Amino acid sequence: MSAKPIDGKAFALGLRERVGIAAASFRAKTGRAPGLAVVLVGEDPASQVYVRAKGKATVEAGMESFEHKRDAEITESELLALVNRLNRDEQVDGILVQLPLPPHIDEAAVIAAIDPDKDVDGFHVVNAGRLAVGAEGFVPCTPLGCLMLLKDRLGSLSGLEAVVIGRSNIVGKPMAQLLIRESCTVTVAHSRTRDLPGIVRRADIVVAAVGRPEMVKGDWLKPGATVIDVGINRVAGTDGKTRLVGDVDFASASEVAGAITPVPGGVGPMTIAVLLRNALVAAHLRAGMDAPEGL
Ligand code: NAD
Repeated sequence: MSAKPIDGKAFALGLRERVGIAAASFRAKTGRAPGLAVVLVGEDPASQVYVRAKGKATVEAGMESFEHKRDAEITESELLALVNRLNRDEQVDGILVQLPLPPHIDEAAVIAAIDPDKDVDGFHVVNAGRLAVGAEGFVPCTPLGCLMLLKDRLGSLSGLEAVVIGRSNIVGKPMAQLLIRESCTVTVAHSRTRDLPGIVRRADIVVAAVGRPEMVKGDWLKPGATVIDVGINRVAGTDGKTRLVGDVDFASASEVAGAITPVPGGVGPMTIAVLLRNALVAAHLRAGMDAPEGL
């Protein structure tokens, strides 16, 4: 079998277009654009690239982007004061604090200071709790993007066996919660799991969020499985340059899977698109309006 590629790039572009249309309609009704504030502390090169990409995508969607860059020397109380100011700012619907923060700052304390109704990253314990009990709330962007790709490909997920590899708060755990909400039978595997290939082999859906290049092999997969590869790993290529690979060995997995996300061009582009979607939803809810349908 040769797996169908799942084109996250195309799906993300479509989502961003729909967000743009809904943002224009929000602006027409309220007289203001939805606003997303991004806080970047320090000079981490990867974070700078992400923040730049998020700002650009926000503006392209017709939303207001507020960037707050601070030196790595900022104190925790200064950062908390900034978050509190953004919580009170009427123009700001969503707040994202780019992680990681410098080691002298307690990330959990900063996330806890964000108003849960502006927590478009879905990292606040209130939103994690809402997801766990099946209540409405903000869901972390990467796993929500994975779920959108799965539903687009498979329709109903009810009754399917899903294996999530990785148990981080950002990807693995919320992914498992989302799949439970879709009535999958969910197994969460992690670094202490015994017989990972045996567990993966029974899955109709595999979501790999590990951070280990090409760890999941084709012969671990059930024929026809749908594979979502969250991993982004930079490895040395044969030409001396580096290249990006996922957590799944794409070549061997493509022989067995029914559908698979490539890296790059699979899950990666979904994260920013879902962030914009979450910010748009936050704007509607804060304005006392229903969240737009079909996003
Ligand atoms: P993390 O390091 O927080 O968690 C990794 C998880 O993998 C842990 O729960 C650990 O138990 C598990 N693990 C480690 N070794 C394992 C092994 N040998 N077998 C089974 N499980 C093992 O990472 P994260 O933040 O969840 O990110 C995971 C990957 O996804 C990374 O490559 C990251 O770059 C990528 N990522 C991509 C996006 C995106 O596409 N936008 C977003 C977030 C993360």
